[in-house]
Amino acid sequence: MFTAFLIKYAEIGVKGKNRYLFEDALVQQIKYALKRCEGEFKVRKTQGRIYVDAVSEFDFDETVDNLKTVFGISGICPVVYVEDEGFEKLGQTIVEYMDNVYPDKNKTFKVNARRARKNYPLDTMELNREVGAVILDAFPEMTVDVHNPDIMLYLEIREKIYIYSEIIPGPGGMPVGTNGKAMLLLSGGIDSPVAGYMISKRGVKIDAVYFHAPPYTSERAKQKVVDLARLVSRYSGPIYLHVINFTDIQLAIYEKCPHDELTIIMRRYMMKIAEHIAKETECLGLITGESIGQVASQTMHSLYATNEVCTMPVYRPCIGLDKQEIVEISEKINTYETSILPFEDCCTIFVAKHPVTKPNLEYIKRHEESLKDVIDDLMEKALESKETIIVRCDE
Ligand code: ATP
Ligand code: MG
Repeated sequence: MFTAFLIKYAEIGVKGKNRYLFEDALVQQIKYALKRCEGEFKVRKTQGRIYVDAVSEFDFDETVDNLKTVFGISGICPVVYVEDEGFEKLGQTIVEYMDNVYPDKNKTFKVNARRARKNYPLDTMELNREVGAVILDAFPEMTVDVHNPDIMLYLEIREKIYIYSEIIPGPGGMPVGTNGKAMLLLSGGIDSPVAGYMISKRGVKIDAVYFHAPPYTSERAKQKVVDLARLVSRYSGPIYLHVINFTDIQLAIYEKCPHDELTIIMRRYMMKIAEHIAKETECLGLITGESIGQVASQTMHSLYATNEVCTMPVYRPCIGLDKQEIVEISEKINTYETSILPFEDCCTIFVAKHPVTKPNLEYIKRHEESLKDVIDDLMEKALESKETIIVRCDE
């Protein structure tokens, strides 16, 4: 029955010149999401509205599911178009519409007509009244409630007449591409894909970096990260995933630094390298999946020590969430099942039995001194090892 969708978006903060950028980014992200769907669509912007028109057969549920991945959409309204062939024909179509969409007739309704084309023979008030009468006539169980109706039936008189009444909630947020770019430190865990999703929701494009430690971490562990990036890219758009060979740095730290400080020192080098790549690729911040107190390397003292190597802002959107809350988001965005696959990651292989929970920054810096003869060279080699994989989910 439905042949189109009206896309609703929150308009707060999208005035003037911003509005244009916001809408263009939204249209682009809608097209990206629709490429994953059966069928052909046209996306058009008219008079401050965005419509998705199906120009072939399509799968309704699949299309809605994919539109729900587009940040910036607050509501998705399935629309029926009718040619303007007189009021009687319109009345028939509306009766069919109500019958199909609301099998249970025990409902109140209100008609909300709008004329974008002023030469229609009835004015708005008359339309509301006449259409209401036709519905009451066809379905005597239905009643009108102008204050708090169960069904708000919208009619828009344009070249054609548009009918809709359902609003399926969208994901909210801002369209990706309206707010710069940031570099996500993406591991194979539960938290970092969620962190990427959350920042991307605010309109931020993301790239990602993964620290790989072959042969201690396997190809399958790397593939898992690629798979997670692909799942996140349903929401964020294409992700440039940089894979860095971190083995030699890890071995050097293991050899020369106290084992209870391994994780912190390792995390400091990860942040340094990530920041370096971020600057080269015009990112304006780093993103991690850290949450206060979750593990020894995420206490306030540890975060203080890790953060100290960066000058860029580090966004940690999971910082105040409990594990269970993060798990719930990962289930919602469908990354959970992949995240819990049991492939080793480099943080778990070189892990100390008793990591410090209150690292002292002065000690850490002193212990890092023992790397000074090799570390510049190792950092350079790690950066040279960079393999960039373009991850997208529209082809
Ligand atoms: P996650 O579930 O995201 O792996 P975690 O709870 O396992 O998080 P840690 O392993 O301490 O936490 O890592 C903290 C953060 O550091 C991660 O959320 C991620 O942003 C980053 N990180 C850790 N390991 C890697 C890695 N191998 N490559 C890239 N980033 C990493
Ligand atoms: Mg991890």
